[in-house]
Amino acid sequence: MSKDHFLEIRGLKKYFDADRPSLRFASREMRHVHAVDGVDLSLQHSEVIALVGESGCGKSTLALLLMGLEESTAGTISFEGRDITHLKEHERKGLRRKIQMVFQDPYESLNPTQNIEEIINEPLLVHGIGKNKQDRDQRVKKALEDSGLKPADVYLQRFPHELSGGQRQRVVIAAALVLEPEILLADEPVSMLDVSIRAEIINLLAELRITRKIAVIFITHDLGSVGFFADRVAVMYLGRIVEIGTMLEVLEKPQHPYTKALLSVIPVPNPRLRRERIILQGETPNPIDVPTGCRFHPRCPVAMWTCKASDPPFTTLSKTHQAACLLLVK
Ligand code: SF4
Repeated sequence: MSKDHFLEIRGLKKYFDADRPSLRFASREMRHVHAVDGVDLSLQHSEVIALVGESGCGKSTLALLLMGLEESTAGTISFEGRDITHLKEHERKGLRRKIQMVFQDPYESLNPTQNIEEIINEPLLVHGIGKNKQDRDQRVKKALEDSGLKPADVYLQRFPHELSGGQRQRVVIAAALVLEPEILLADEPVSMLDVSIRAEIINLLAELRITRKIAVIFITHDLGSVGFFADRVAVMYLGRIVEIGTMLEVLEKPQHPYTKALLSVIPVPNPRLRRERIILQGETPNPIDVPTGCRFHPRCPVAMWTCKASDPPFTTLSKTHQAACLLLVK
């Protein structure tokens, strides 16, 4: 493991059983949903990676694997040099403190019967953190204020239904922050919020990576929302990362036709910078029946016959394939 990469994912796979009578006589491969299908990814301290792709591409399953909420089928996950792929529940407890998740729906994530103080205090009690009540109270207030709910005293006795959507998502972030994590897995954290609030939450996450030195994996289907925020962007399609690069590389010089298509539909205010829209044909293929060769070939506007047969990693594609992929890149 590189000393700069404190999280390393290698060849990670998660296949779910596809329990359908029609697949009873299908090959072993075809009796599984290939949710995550060979992902390599590394994360550095305080780095922000945006994991982008259509719904169903496997990005949320990848987050659940990192949290240990799903067991992987193959591959490895290392954190700070330690293999954490198959930990037992009691071994995972300390790790959960370091890797925290912010879910998409703040309405579902918060217990409506607890007030904000109880919600933020609970993770401290579960992990046995804090010398005494006074120490825990201070941690709760700091987490709330670092999440933008200031002064904390105003919010402590309120219940989730008394807060706006943006405030609820800040409470969810505070409940993660109170454990002082090193990595935040933010799974579509702004998609349920009003457009006006989204920028505030993204700004908050951008601030936290600086003030608290937290690395963030920001999962989103909206490539347009990661613009100024991410260091690197990883584009996922049907269980695989098909392109990864710095934010500028991917946004300004996308290499893969799928990335190019995602970028082409982002609204751009300046008409002179507007790109030609690329509308992909058809739906994302069924992850039970993954296409042969390059898995993007049924929808790729520049696919060639060889794309049906071979599936080399994008970085080692033959020159002809690269030329084809780049045809869409202007
Ligand atoms: Fe895949 Fe071929 Fe399209 Fe490249 S040109 S993305 S290899 S289908």
